[in-house]
Amino acid sequence: MTFAFDNQVALVTGAASGIGLAAAKAFAQAGASVALADLDGDAVRAVAQALNDAGFKAIGIPCDVSDIAQVEALVKRTVAELGGLDVAFNNAGIQNVLAETADASVEDYDRVMSVNLRGVWACMKFQLQHMRQQGSGSIVNCSSLGGLVGGAERANYHAAKHGVIGLTKSAALEYAARNIRVNAVCPGLIWTPMVDQMVASGQGEAMDGMIKAIPMARPGRPEEIADTVLWLSSSRASYVTGQSISVDGGFIMR
Ligand code: NAP
Repeated sequence: MTFAFDNQVALVTGAASGIGLAAAKAFAQAGASVALADLDGDAVRAVAQALNDAGFKAIGIPCDVSDIAQVEALVKRTVAELGGLDVAFNNAGIQNVLAETADASVEDYDRVMSVNLRGVWACMKFQLQHMRQQGSGSIVNCSSLGGLVGGAERANYHAAKHGVIGLTKSAALEYAARNIRVNAVCPGLIWTPMVDQMVASGQGEAMDGMIKAIPMARPGRPEEIADTVLWLSSSRASYVTGQSISVDGGFIMR
């Protein structure tokens, strides 16, 4: 299925790497003007430049989604420089430090929540202010398989990702009759630099075990999440809101 986002503006957070990078490229290839936001300002500017060099329209904006002032400025700059905001993929996220709940630190709890949950809330807050006034829009939030099940030593991450689904359903209810849809995507194991880091930090065995438990017997590709994000963002999903779509090779069936 191909998607047409001509004359639309898309905003993607965490766009310098992995799933966000794949989604930002896919939006650009589908005709959208794309604002790419990431903590890594140099990397995200370089990705935007490469997209512009390839004939697409993109801007790279350094932004830490855990800083509400930066998020407000991100949305304002997107609207000012690209002429609006039609679709957003709130994707930026981080892993927690592995620890049993009894041993986890308050610093790690706050760090993970500030990016994975409050960051999504802040992005939606300012995106919805614009979309409410505009009278249209579509938001996709990045939850996780971890938003649907528990995870030993991963309570902070899983709690934040469960919270993303609560934010998604609540905002979807608020705006359903106002032409704004809000959905979430729940990736399973997707091979990205985040997973490379997990393997490098000694979680390779856990990753192997997880791959064995995937009915499709392989990790996913970032582009497979991007395809779902574009569908959810597009008019082809015009009657879909408040949903959390698993893209996980069948993992959640077990
Ligand atoms: P990734 O390759 O690490 O990409 C995440 C990007 O987000 C990085 O460029 C990172 O920048 C950026 N970022 C981190 N903190 C940020 C912040 N505070 N503000 C703005 N940007 C920030 O990870 P990924 O695997 O593509 O993950 C993307 C999303 O998918 C995350 O929400 C993750 O939880 C979710 N997810 C991933 C998987 C998986 O298996 N990969 C599974 C389920 C859900 P730096 O590199 O500079 O930190």
